[in-house]
Amino acid sequence: MMQLYQPLNILGFAYREIKQSLIDMEKMFSLLNVKQEVEDRPDARPLQVDGAAIAFDNVHFRYEEDRPILKGVSFTARPGEKIAIVGHSGAGKSTISRILYRFYDIDEGSVTIDGQDIRDVTQDSLRAAIGMVPQDTVLFNETIGYNIAYAKPGATQDEIEQAAQMAQIHDFVTGLPKGYDTVVGERGLKLSGGEKQRVAIARTILKNPPILILDEATSALDSVTEQGIQTALRNVAESRTTLVIAHRLSTIIDADRILVMDDGQIIEQGTHAELLAKGGDYAELWQRQQEDRQAAE
Ligand code: ATP
Repeated sequence: MMQLYQPLNILGFAYREIKQSLIDMEKMFSLLNVKQEVEDRPDARPLQVDGAAIAFDNVHFRYEEDRPILKGVSFTARPGEKIAIVGHSGAGKSTISRILYRFYDIDEGSVTIDGQDIRDVTQDSLRAAIGMVPQDTVLFNETIGYNIAYAKPGATQDEIEQAAQMAQIHDFVTGLPKGYDTVVGERGLKLSGGEKQRVAIARTILKNPPILILDEATSALDSVTEQGIQTALRNVAESRTTLVIAHRLSTIIDADRILVMDDGQIIEQGTHAELLAKGGDYAELWQRQQEDRQAAE
């Protein structure tokens, strides 16, 4: 029996490893939605983060020839600032986050973090410095504990629970019969969009990156879930340089700067109050969302 057990055990291990890499790849590709294009320069150095100031300077970018997507985008984020990006679908908001993560190289202009061009640093060090909370998180068919700890191998149960508490998901998890050992994902407990996003937030809290990119879910959430998520996001954004891709303007009133994008350009920027006073596109969008909200209520 022991003779059989050993190879079977190895086989089981190999199967789990392969399954895990397939899921990881699947997750990567769904996140990237692209082929891997960029390479480290031979002399690439690790990114040295000192406060995490971000600067986009006259950035031009196209995915395909003849179809410019970003047409001269410039903005800055000082250390710890929260910058919100709003605009119609297809305006180029997510493209900005993909470029910061360097899924693609730009055609013209520059993107720097603390004065270092992101093309001059290693991709590993760049991505280690950025936490992404995507709209739709893919969870592994593993326990909730594993899914949260994924960003920090070797995290203790205490650390996992602390992160979950900050992400407003701890009470939900402890309410499940198997708690943190509950298997989730396609073949386990199916979590709602809001629950999955909070798991992603807990994961990011554990990763503890100096830069954060939050992609707000487009789908409407019930107001209790929405409130929970907003609290969780505020917790995680605290003292980090944050880019929020926002769909509901009510969630970004407190942003240090709001960039309004249209067709690959920033057409307005300022605080919520400044943009309302200006009476331009943002003010119009705000008015429309307020009316929709009142009608829904
Ligand atoms: P949404 O609010 O709907 O998420 P967005 O403002 O984030 O929209 P982006 O995802 O940045 O928009 O897309 C900007 C434009 O780039 C769109 O017209 C889109 O079709 C195009 N685009 C996005 N990804 C690719 C790709 N991988 N290849 C080619 N074109 C792409």
